[in-house]
Amino acid sequence: MGVEADLEGAFTDIEALAKECRFNNCSHTSEPDCAVLQAVAMNTLDGKRLESYFKFQKELRFLETKVDENAAIEQRQHEKKLGKYYKQTLHDIYEIKGK
Ligand SMILES: [Zn+2]
Repeated sequence: MGVEADLEGAFTDIEALAKECRFNNCSHTSEPDCAVLQAVAMNTLDGKRLESYFKFQKELRFLETKVDENAAIEQRQHEKKLGKYYKQTLHDIYEIKGK
């Protein structure tokens, strides 16, 4: 099993609980009617497990930001190339028209 498969399936229990939270964007830290916190309070979920879930989420966000940054850099480079191309094309069009 690869690392990704491990990560994806690692917190299915918490993710299942998270669906029961009152808020869709619940951070499971202090929200009212948080199903995850309730599960910890009722000892159906290990508090340490929730901690490692938070760590995992943080890491995931970090990775996502990295990917976003790379995508943004690529996008900029692409636009730069495209800009040059348009300039050249416009230049060519005007040259042809001028003749
Ligand atoms: Zn929650």
